[in-house]
Amino acid sequence: MVTEQLIRRGIGDPRVLAAMGLVERHRFVEAALAGAAYEDRPLPIGHGQTISQPYMVARATELAAPLPGDRALEVGAGSGYQAAVLAELCAEVFAIEIVPALAERARRALAETGARNVTVEAFDGSGGWPAHAPYDVIIVSAGAPRIPTLLVGELAEGGRLVIPVGGPQEQELALVRRVGDDYQTSFETRCRYVDLRGRFGVGGGAPAA
Ligand code: SAH
Repeated sequence: MVTEQLIRRGIGDPRVLAAMGLVERHRFVEAALAGAAYEDRPLPIGHGQTISQPYMVARATELAAPLPGDRALEVGAGSGYQAAVLAELCAEVFAIEIVPALAERARRALAETGARNVTVEAFDGSGGWPAHAPYDVIIVSAGAPRIPTLLVGELAEGGRLVIPVGGPQEQELALVRRVGDDYQTSFETRCRYVDLRGRFGVGGGAPAA
């Protein structure tokens, strides 16, 4: 998977590649799908949701450029796979999943893989998780109509937010970097994620940036 799908498609960060090699993706899907776990595509995890494609997990992680001492937030934990990759690369990971049954499943899978530095909770994370802010890294694993202001506000000095932004059919991975009180946004990679739900998600109606 690492050589065929990630290096060949341009993932170059050696720490990200190492983490992707270490985390066993088959542990985050149902046993019946384990045989397909290392193919480069999303797979169903129930509740109409999917485990993200390995390339997109690697790309989002590379853009977020996690460092060993970093505190990270993931919005949209789903299976827990992206959180497990962040857990290899950061000091502490907070992960939010809006579907309680998926949050429970992610917690179990993460515990079984021995990740001790991840906390998963079930609630609408479209406005972030202020209780543990600020974060050096924020990865949103579901597509948003626009970048929620509250999430940007939870970035630490020098922090990076990666979020798919666009319509339901196609989005672009946006990278927002905080430099002092300045925020620099770039659009990096075309992608297709499931919808971000909740207050600042698709159809949420709350005003944002
Ligand atoms: N990173 C996950 C991707 C799962 S798909 C993985 O590797 O498996 C995206 C997930 O985001 C879904 O499980 C969905 O239920 C969740 N989600 C959607 N809107 C959300 C919100 N507002 N807050 C938290 N989770 C949300």
